[in-house]
Order: sequence, then structure tokens, then C-alpha cells
Amino acid sequence: MTDRPLLMIPGPIEVSDAVFRATCVRPPSHVAPDLIAAFGDALRGMRSVWLAGPNSQPFVVAGGGTLAMETAATNLVDPGQSALVIDTGYFGDRMAEMLRRRGANVTLIEAPPGETVSAERVGDALRQGEHAAVFATHVDTSTGVRVDARGIAEAARQHGVLSCFDGVCATAAERFEQRAWGADVYLTASQKAIGLPAGLALWVCSARATDARAALKQLPPLTLDWHKWQPIMEAYEAGKPSYFSTPATTLIGALHIGLRELVPDDLHAATRMEARVAAHQRAADAMRAAWSVLGLKLLPTHVDHTANTLSALYYPDGVDASVLGAIKQAGAIVAGGLHADLKTRYFRVGHMGDVVGRPEALLRTVQAVATGLRAVGHTADVRAAVTAAESVLKP
Ligand code: PMP
Repeated sequence: MTDRPLLMIPGPIEVSDAVFRATCVRPPSHVAPDLIAAFGDALRGMRSVWLAGPNSQPFVVAGGGTLAMETAATNLVDPGQSALVIDTGYFGDRMAEMLRRRGANVTLIEAPPGETVSAERVGDALRQGEHAAVFATHVDTSTGVRVDARGIAEAARQHGVLSCFDGVCATAAERFEQRAWGADVYLTASQKAIGLPAGLALWVCSARATDARAALKQLPPLTLDWHKWQPIMEAYEAGKPSYFSTPATTLIGALHIGLRELVPDDLHAATRMEARVAAHQRAADAMRAAWSVLGLKLLPTHVDHTANTLSALYYPDGVDASVLGAIKQAGAIVAGGLHADLKTRYFRVGHMGDVVGRPEALLRTVQAVATGLRAVGHTADVRAAVTAAESVLKP
């Protein structure tokens, strides 16, 4: 156990020791043979983690999730085309704004905070209008709501519409099978469940998605253009140096280590990812068992659409954001609310990435939350909460 508080916000997150060590190196050149080899293998590793097909194209570009979202908005849709956006929180709003700035006609399907949008509703909307693409947030970090990505991808497929999923708070933790489900773009950022520091935008495109870019009438901004980046990714995968804009070389080295911790060999990727998703499910179940003992209510309205990567929890009566300081004092950093409508009414605890395999970290988080609540006057049985989580983690 360390003395520093654990970083249990929904990203950036605690990283594994191997990833941490990989970031503590002298900066490599973008054309160094070792870096080229690591970059190429990281791209192969992404296909495995995404469970994407051999013809899919992975991209790694310096930036964040927002940049990955913007490449999708500007490479999939032309100005004047229609896009369907499923809005389950803050990041759905952001996607809609990006598409409007691109000049797209946006149709929003909104859910009240805590609710989801069913694949049936998406299917109905697709029947009613002609859309170039449908955009959904796999897990909206502002609400802790997970959508039925499979159902939405399949509905889009049936209607011949492209599908794009923001997996920033889901990729490598929630079930997602890009190839089997026929999803066209699955994007994320390095600081979430993929388990790295912040600084990389990552996404994988189907061949249909890259074809859509080829058919655009209005080019995307240069640095967002998949056509500028694709030859670079292809070169690295072929073991050759290439240059368009300097990659974040230290992070690429760490990405290689991090992805290979998840999927040491590409042949057994499906089994590894299955186990990884199950570990996140177990961690989420354990945390929820503890929240229930503490009398904390989750923001998502049904367990079926509650994310496994974080808990969004209403403050109990008489408690406000001042509890966050008390929780930190007790050993874990957690986050305040993000959704504009109820920002001051809830807080968020991340449980994704390396920590799901470290029961002591999860239990320490439960203990910190319970102790923090007690410190601000809420009746909380710290021992009972820890025991409830422990009984799920160590049955
Ligand atoms: N989408 C989701 C679901 C997110 O959680 C975030 C970050 N919290 C983003 C997009 C944006 O990512 P970034 O902050 O790296 O730009």
C-alpha cells in the first residue's frame, strides 16, 4: 500500500508498473528501429484489443479523445449530409456540436440523464430519415450510462449507415467486438481503460469507414485527415520509417507495453478480452455492493445500462462536493459531477484498467469513500462496505 492517494477518477487512471516504467525513458526518435518495431506491434495489438478484422485500419495520433472524435466527425460526414447522434450525456452533446460545425444536419436522439437509448429507437430513427452515419457514446462518462453498442451497430448495418462509437470510457473494459458487430469506427484515448497516461488519440476504422473518407467532397482539416495518417500507420506496421507529424514517441513505447499486457499474443485475443471484460464486471459488482451498503444511489436507472468502468453516484442527503476532499484525505481521489443538469448532485468513482486486477486498490477506494462520507456526517458503516465489496472480489 502506498501513502499517496489512489487516482480513482474516470480517467486519467492508475497505470500498471510496466506502463509506468515504460514512460520513464529518454525520448526515442520517431525513426529509431526500436520505436518503429514497437509502433507496428502496437497497431497490431490494437486490432486485437478492438477485436477488429484484418482489413481494419488502426490509427494512433498525439492528442486526446476529443481529437479522435473530431477526426470521425470530419472524415465520415460531408457538409450537408445528415448524421444521427445518440445523446446519453455530455460527450454526446460534444459530438453533435462537432458535426454541426462540420456543416452536417444533426438529428439527436436524447435520453434524460441516467437513461439510455434503445437499439429499437435507433432503428426507428434510421427508418425515418436518410443518414450518412450514426454516432453513439459507448459509455458516457458524465452519466455512467452504457448504450447497447452491438444493437446500434447492427441496426446501422441493416440500414446501410456507418456507425461510430466513442469508446473513450469503455474501450478495453466493456465488451466490444468491432468485426463481429460490423461497427465502423471505435475510438478512444490513452488515459482511460487502455491504461496509459493521457496524450494519445486511438481509433480503428473499418474498410467502409476509410472508403467514406475517400468519397468526401469537402476535405477534412489537414491534421485530422485520415488520408494523411493512413500511409504513416501502414509504413510503421510494415516496419518502415515515415513522417507526417511527429508522433508522441515516449507514449507509443508505453502503448506497446500496455497493449501487450492486455493481449500478449494476437491469436488468443478473444479469450483475453473476454477475461478483461469479466474482470471489469466483477470490479463494478463489488463497488456496487459497497455503494448499496452505504446507501448511495447510482445515476443510471437500470443495471443493464450501467457502465462497468465507473460509478456515478448521487450525494446522499446533507452531503455535497465537500466530501471529495474528505475522500481524498482518506486515500482516494474521485471526481465531481459533469452533466450540466445535475453537476452538483453527484460524484464519480472510476474503476477501470489495472486496478480491476488489484482487489486491495478497489477495497481501499471503498474504504476511502466510506470514511470520507463519515467525516462529513453521513452515517456510513466503513467495515460493512468493505466486507460487501470483498465478498464479491474474494468469494
Ligand atoms: N468521450 C468520452 C466518453 C470521455 O470520457 C472523454 C474524456 N473524459 C472524451 C470523449 C474526451 O477525451 P479527452 O478529454 O481525452 O479529449
